[in-house]
Amino acid sequence: MRAARAKRPVRGSLMDLVLVVGVLVAVWSRTPVGNLGTQGFAWATGLDVPTAPLVSTLNTHSADIDTLVARVNTSLNANSLNAENGALPSQWESPDGGFPEPFRSAAKAALVETPVPAQYLPLVDVTQPLPEQHLSALDSLYEEGEDAQVTLQRYALGPEGTARATERARSAGEANPERWDTLRRYLSSKEQQLGDRLVSTTLGTAAMLTLQWPVLEDVRISSPFGYRHHPVLSKRKFHNGVDLSVPVGTPVWAAQKGKVKVAGNDAINGNYVVIDHGNGVRTSYCHLDSLEVEKKAQVERGQAIGLSGNTGRSTGPHLHFVVRVGGKAVDPERFRADVELSGADPAAAVE
Ligand SMILES: [Zn+2]
Repeated sequence: MRAARAKRPVRGSLMDLVLVVGVLVAVWSRTPVGNLGTQGFAWATGLDVPTAPLVSTLNTHSADIDTLVARVNTSLNANSLNAENGALPSQWESPDGGFPEPFRSAAKAALVETPVPAQYLPLVDVTQPLPEQHLSALDSLYEEGEDAQVTLQRYALGPEGTARATERARSAGEANPERWDTLRRYLSSKEQQLGDRLVSTTLGTAAMLTLQWPVLEDVRISSPFGYRHHPVLSKRKFHNGVDLSVPVGTPVWAAQKGKVKVAGNDAINGNYVVIDHGNGVRTSYCHLDSLEVEKKAQVERGQAIGLSGNTGRSTGPHLHFVVRVGGKAVDPERFRADVELSGADPAAAVE
């Protein structure tokens, strides 16, 4: 009797211990408190412990990405990129050895308010408009054949800042320490802000400028983006995408390369796919009949991701296509590219 009574608290305290240790591990690895602890440990012991900047455990994307929507929407249309049909020029005109397209047009559209980093001011003519200043600095920094993303990173962080962050990411065991989405997690919050303003906005804009239409170009738009009278709910409602009038079983193509964020099903969207293209840009494809991709799959631009259908809350066969930037839905027709596709030919996929 006595022994049995004594055992209980022992078992209880063991459980408590396991719980406490679990919570401590979670706090240590997932919160700024733990991050602070790791940094404190590194400071106290003098050991070089790789740590992410404090705020990176809190925010994965700065608010700067949200301003991309406004910037791209206003400056693209004001810029004479292609007023007739979408945002893209039908001919790329990258100067020889200069900062390449589509990043060139993207920088021109995205960097209309962002100042040139102080250390690169000597490279530019400050009497020129800001986008021109950025382009001439990027032209000087770009080395032929180099990754445009690497040039942008160097532009935002300087060569030392880039090398420092890459080294930090590498010693933390990152597989791709030189890629922007990895690198940005190893920057100070100030560097992150600057990088987001210059790198994320330009890369995000480039992704938007080269979105592919998800079905054949001549498919009728049965319902455009914007406010409309909702056919099922019978009231005025905001339509966050375009409805493309395609029969059940039509192949649907990824508008841009990216990672499948959702491949699932719900009562409203039916079978649907959401693709994350990075730097705040996402696309969704709803009411599909069947899915041809799984969550977390890497897809190429123009890759078939499923067959269109009539699932979920839908009055007839169609594809509901949504483009989101910084979480906000934008009109997909404004980013309808009028360019030759490299790689997959969507027309070849259909009888
Ligand atoms: Zn719709």
